Amino acid sequence: MKILLPVKRVVDANVKVRVKADGSAVELANVKMAMNPFDEIAVEEAIRLKEAGKAEEIIVVSVGPQQAQETLRTALATGADRAILVKTDEQTEPLGVAKVLKGVVDAEQPGLVILGKQAIDDDSNQTGQMLAALLGWAQGTFASKVVIDGDKAMVTREVDGGLQTVELKMPAIVTADLRLNQPRYASLPNIMKAKKKQLDEKSPADYGADVKPRLKVIKTEEPSGRKAGVKVKSVAELVDKLKNEAGVL
Ligand code: AMP
Repeated sequence: MKILLPVKRVVDANVKVRVKADGSAVELANVKMAMNPFDEIAVEEAIRLKEAGKAEEIIVVSVGPQQAQETLRTALATGADRAILVKTDEQTEPLGVAKVLKGVVDAEQPGLVILGKQAIDDDSNQTGQMLAALLGWAQGTFASKVVIDGDKAMVTREVDGGLQTVELKMPAIVTADLRLNQPRYASLPNIMKAKKKQLDEKSPADYGADVKPRLKVIKTEEPSGRKAGVKVKSVAELVDKLKNEAGVL
């Protein structure tokens, strides 16, 4: 079985993001970029499935600018076998990406696609679900455990109030949640070896997809700072403030 892993290049999770002076978008110039953290978890899960003999090949794909090659190389250094860069300078959105991914799935015929549950830059949480709909495949979103048994995938999902386990008929889509695993780091020898692994360059048109943005961002602003707290002297004062100032009681 092949596993397809879509990975997105986003602002590094440790960077404090700033809004551009004109409020049009987040400032990306000279900002450290990295693989979306949920995609690192998806990569780790695919490697574990391959190590357990459940998969033969792991293909990583990114839809984005030339620099997304670095993200793909990171995945190759961690253990993916080959990579596809679907090059575009457009700001990607979930529907456009899902359409490209459908084309990649049609060409590569994977048994499983593991995506991150959400990209930390746009917080959409839509691409996996849209891809499942376009393909007509089963989906297990917010996965905290994945067990492959023949042509079935048992996916434990993090839902409100606990864990739900669903059985998916493969081929299927899984989206990775935080507790699925702890991603490993790439070793230096593997970083060197990754340079020799196959990385193909394609365009959205090669997959019959159009990634032109359908959304217009009206405004981007930083969250307002937190107000300083106050200390109260008694429970009665606290209740009074909650009732008469905050209006929550
Ligand atoms: P989103 O729906 O934007 O929150 O993204 C969910 C997941 O879809 C991400 O964690 C990635 O696995 C995948 N994804 C989103 N955008 C891209 C992209 N441009 N290239 C590759 N994968 C993507």
